[in-house]
Amino acid sequence: MGKAGSKQKGQSILTIDYEDWFHVLGHGLLDPSVWEKLPVHVETDTLRLLDLLDQHSARATFFVVGWLGERTPDVLKEIIRRGHHVASHGYYHIPPNKMSEFEFRKDLLRSKEAIENATGISVLGYRAPGFGVRDCSFCYLDVLQKHGFLYDSSVFPGLFPGRGQGKVPSHPYRPDQSNPEFWEVPISAIGFGPVRLVFSGGGFLRLLPGWIVRSSATRSRRRGESVVYYLHPRDVNPDGPTVDARWWQRLRYYGGRYGLLRKLEDILSSEKLTSIEESREIMPTVGAL
Ligand SMILES: [Zn+2]
Repeated sequence: MGKAGSKQKGQSILTIDYEDWFHVLGHGLLDPSVWEKLPVHVETDTLRLLDLLDQHSARATFFVVGWLGERTPDVLKEIIRRGHHVASHGYYHIPPNKMSEFEFRKDLLRSKEAIENATGISVLGYRAPGFGVRDCSFCYLDVLQKHGFLYDSSVFPGLFPGRGQGKVPSHPYRPDQSNPEFWEVPISAIGFGPVRLVFSGGGFLRLLPGWIVRSSATRSRRRGESVVYYLHPRDVNPDGPTVDARWWQRLRYYGGRYGLLRKLEDILSSEKLTSIEESREIMPTVGAL
């Protein structure tokens, strides 16, 4: 038996936000001048993750924090060498809805340059830190398109304070009729009556029982909709450093992380995971470049 999804239009796409333990949003370590003094763990966590992906012949798209990409170019090169792809996760990991258009453009282009300098490969995709694009004061998609980006992966189509967007599709789509080459690649959500719940990444992926994640993914693929998973390198190292936070924040940042590796191995064993660039829907435009 082949892995699920091989005969279905809907595929499983894996995305990884390449950031370190101190990039968790909403706590006290947001000042980049502090980052310089902190131990970097993303390198070892990413190499561990790359070995796991190799074992399952899986591919992923890594959304890289530019500041970190500048400091760990060898890991970025290794990501590329193993057949994966890189895209932008901003330079300073700031959500677009916390910036002006001028600041966003500057941060975006700085991250693009940092990643391209490290890898020699054009950056074509973007994911907003914290999926923070709701109530953005400017049209960030216009800025992306103007600077040659071919996809965005910042839409969070489920319930969540500050980031949830309820009425958008929860599978890849073209957001701009006038530019059919540009894709939106949202995180996956499943409907429970009138409520939509994201199941494929972050705290949801860590905390939801594995059977709910797997059955939700199967339902989406059967409808012909690709499933977009997301996680962080730190998620596969549950004994790594954590930030000081209140208990409910810790639950959100770290809850379920001791079970995540096994859950990921289950997914990798039963689904064929690919990158955004190599997915069947999006590859004809993005992957062809
Ligand atoms: Zn992030």
